[in-house]
Amino acid sequence: NNKEVLLQVSGLKVAYGGIKAVKGVDFEVRQGELVSLIGANGAGKTTTLKAVTGLQPIAEGDVLFKGRSIKGQGAWNLAKQGLVMIPEGRGTFTRMTITENLQMGAYIRKDTEAIAQDMEMVFGLFPRLRERKDQLAGTMSGGEQQMLAMGRALMARPEVLLLDEPSMGLSPIMVDKIFEVVHDIHSKGVTILLVEQNASRALALANRGYVMESGAVTMTGRGSDLLADPKVRAAYLGE
Ligand code: ATP
Repeated sequence: NNKEVLLQVSGLKVAYGGIKAVKGVDFEVRQGELVSLIGANGAGKTTTLKAVTGLQPIAEGDVLFKGRSIKGQGAWNLAKQGLVMIPEGRGTFTRMTITENLQMGAYIRKDTEAIAQDMEMVFGLFPRLRERKDQLAGTMSGGEQQMLAMGRALMARPEVLLLDEPSMGLSPIMVDKIFEVVHDIHSKGVTILLVEQNASRALALANRGYVMESGAVTMTGRGSDLLADPKVRAAYLGE
């Protein structure tokens, strides 16, 4: 694989006080890939994503984005360079409308015409958001808020999108819709790092995957190979 490595995580350790949540993790994400990080509750997936975007301090090791350490850069600066995270729990601006939330996603940009085009693109991906464009985000359903969070992140024109458990707490139909859109976004050329407890769906979409257990990566491989692996099936697919 000769594509550029956009994210290089090496020897990453993260702790909360005395609790070692991430204990020396290595992985990489190359340009154009969709990489899934799976694992049980508390395995350290969210903590890893937070460290990658500078939201959680790195105790040891490093994260390089396009060859440069993310240390000391801050989430805002990284977003400007194309590294955008959609947090677990979504974090939309509840007292703003859908349209205003989407506009906020483009706050780092000045290309007014392209912003308007991207708004149309987001409404194309999520017709529901267009129908509700003047509704306050706080009054939307969980699935609609996940759509909005994804739409808002796309308004920043990310090069790498980090998604933390986008399917969490959603109805089966909404889960289908969200994974469909993750696939669409990837098809448009956005590089994706996806953290999911829904291992079967996440691995089915992934070029490659990593399995995390108690703060460490224990398996890696092509998404399809991991999906077929008996150990993965027993531990994460309830077989
Ligand atoms: P889940 O799928 O349940 O979100 P996860 O794999 O994302 O799990 P993390 O949220 O990264 O796991 O948590 C890893 C470990 O760190 C857990 O033991 C958790 O209790 C602990 N942890 C997470 N956040 C904090 C915090 N703010 N303070 C103390 N411990 C924390």
